[in-house]
Amino acid sequence: MPTTLPLAATDSDNPLGGVSDFFDSSTFHAIVLLVLFFVGVLWLALVFWTYKDAKRRVDDPVLVGVSIVTALVFPFVGALVYTILRPPEYLDDVRERELEIRAMERRLGEEGMCPGCGGDVEPDFIACPHCARRLKLTCQRCRSPLKPEWRLCPFCEAPTPTPQQRTMTLYETQS
Ligand SMILES: [Zn+2]
Ligand SMILES: [Zn+2]
Repeated sequence: MPTTLPLAATDSDNPLGGVSDFFDSSTFHAIVLLVLFFVGVLWLALVFWTYKDAKRRVDDPVLVGVSIVTALVFPFVGALVYTILRPPEYLDDVRERELEIRAMERRLGEEGMCPGCGGDVEPDFIACPHCARRLKLTCQRCRSPLKPEWRLCPFCEAPTPTPQQRTMTLYETQS
């Protein structure tokens, strides 16, 4: 940071001697130092802000580094450019939204909509009443609806059908 300004003109070759005296005075130097100090503090604060903000918005550590270096190398302009180019959303918000969408998809897949025809189905439906597509397996003993990942029927403890048996069950119910 420059601490002196090239204003050391002598009174003899400067008609505005009083003004020159003021610029030479220690008061003026103190003011310049103070202004430079605040500008420097603001610059470093902007670099720190860029770091904090980029960490919340940018997933790639290389891009975070580029943002910080830009803010550091180009005072104020770098932070401004970062503000224009930064991702509009926080990473936390993006993750939360993705989770919400996935949960909604799961809910739609599990209940409410037939994956075959898109018709309305209730969660406990075993088959779609619109397109006759089989939605769930049923227990071979007690006929309760079973989830595909279950290994046994939770209602009567009968083992769930193996994939081979499942195709057989499908044929049986379709014919
Ligand atoms: Zn259907
Ligand atoms: Zn059962």
